[in-house]
Amino acid sequence: MASLFISDLHLSPERPGPAGLFRCFLKETASQADALYILGDLFDAWVGDDDLGLPFHAEIAAAIKQLSDSGVPVYLLPGNRDFLAGPELAQAAGLTLLPDPARIDLHGVPTLIAHGDAWCSDDVNYQALRAQVREPDWQRDFLARPLAERRVMAVALRERSEQAKSGKRPEIMDVNPEAVAGAFRIYGVSRIIHGHTHRPARHHHQVDGRDCERWVLPDWYDREGGYLSCSEFGCHTGKID
Ligand code: MN
Repeated sequence: MASLFISDLHLSPERPGPAGLFRCFLKETASQADALYILGDLFDAWVGDDDLGLPFHAEIAAAIKQLSDSGVPVYLLPGNRDFLAGPELAQAAGLTLLPDPARIDLHGVPTLIAHGDAWCSDDVNYQALRAQVREPDWQRDFLARPLAERRVMAVALRERSEQAKSGKRPEIMDVNPEAVAGAFRIYGVSRIIHGHTHRPARHHHQVDGRDCERWVLPDWYDREGGYLSCSEFGCHTGKID
């Protein structure tokens, strides 16, 4: 038995393809797993738990709940698109919210899981925006606004970050090697799993003489999805059929 990891599905009613793949994945693949970990950006935008009012969102939550009701624990560690995921979504989807990062015992291997954006520390503008939207005052003010207004603001925020991205060198938007080495050190792990960068890979790191591995999950936005499967024998990638 194995635990499965996915991230960056960016599910949205505008692009139904990934949602269809996700339903298949839940039924055919995740149903056989020990646990399912969603490491952020499940939704392309989540502007508060009243976003469950959107039938598309409610259906996704119900599909996840079917999996968790069948006995497979589901965890969501929110990303930069769905960091406002809260207790109502957790209840509707039957999932457990995790802090970012979270240290877990993964079949005997201490493993740090994260969305990954916090380690993109070279992108100074992005980190400033990230810090701003995570302030309790900002969130209180944002959540007090009508849903329609929040949706418009989310589109504007996204456009601002897309525009800023187009002028940046690609390495600035990847994780910073020192930030990653620091995480291996601070959390005392030899394995990290994260998403966000849309650059799926397995990286080998030497940290203070220790052999460490870092798995970057594939996105479901530009490609046909995919997942990471980890058991006591190690991790391997899988494709959605
Ligand atoms: Mn992300």
